[in-house]
Amino acid sequence: MLETYDSTPAGAPGRLESAVEILGKHPEYEFIEPTPAIEEQILRAHSRRLMERIQGDERLSKMASLAAGGAILAGEIAVKGEPVFALIRPPGHHASEDSNWGFCYYCNIAVSLLDLRAKGLIDSAFVLDFDLHTGDGNINILGDDKKFTISNPNGNGDEQYLADVKRALDNAPDVDIIVASAGFDEYEDDWGSNLSTDAFREIGHLMYEFAKERCEGRRYALLEGGYNFEDLGKNVLAFCEGLRGG
Ligand SMILES: [Zn+2]
Repeated sequence: MLETYDSTPAGAPGRLESAVEILGKHPEYEFIEPTPAIEEQILRAHSRRLMERIQGDERLSKMASLAAGGAILAGEIAVKGEPVFALIRPPGHHASEDSNWGFCYYCNIAVSLLDLRAKGLIDSAFVLDFDLHTGDGNINILGDDKKFTISNPNGNGDEQYLADVKRALDNAPDVDIIVASAGFDEYEDDWGSNLSTDAFREIGHLMYEFAKERCEGRRYALLEGGYNFEDLGKNVLAFCEGLRGG
C-alpha cells in the first residue's frame, strides 16, 4: 500500500510511512493484508460506468480495488467485535455512485457497509466522518437509506469539536456497527489547523464507548485525509489507542 498510484496529495510518496513505522513499533497492533474488492462488491456502491473508467488505469484500479478490499476486510473483523483501523489509500468519502473527486475513486465505507449488509452481517450503521471535508460520497450513496446515519461533526478547537462528536453519538439511533471516515486533516498542523493529537485519541475513545454500549463493541475506521506526513503516524496511533479503549 506504499506504492504510488496518482499524483494527488493523498497518493503522495511517503504519506503512510510514519503510521506504518509507529504502529510497527507497538506489538499490540497486527498488520493484515487485504485482497482487492471484486466487481460485484464495487458495483453495490457504484455504477458500472464509474468502475470501468477507473479500470482504464491499471495501476490506479489495482490500488483503488485493494483499498476497497481493505475496507471490506476491516468491516468483516470489526463485526466480530474486534477494533480495526484500515490504513488504506486512495481515500473514498468523495466518491459517489457515478462520479468521484477529491483524491477518491471508490467509496470505501459504502463498499464495506453494503458488503456487510449483503452478507447478512449488519442491517444498520453509524458513520462518523471526522475528516476536515464533508464526505459527499458517503452521503450520496448511503444518505437516503434510513438504516445509515452519517455525521460530519464540526467546531472550533478540541472542546467544541469533541462536544459535537459526543452530541452526534448521543443522538444516534440504535445501529449494528459504528465506522469512521477517519481524516486527520483537521489536525492543528495540517490543512484544518483545528484539532490536537489528543482530540483524535478522544474521538477514538468516544467510538469505543459508543460501540461497547450500543453495538456489541463493533467499531472500525478507514483512513481518509491527512497531509502532514510526519505527524500522521502519531495521530493515527492516538486515535487507535482511543478506539481500543485507552
Ligand atoms: Zn479531507
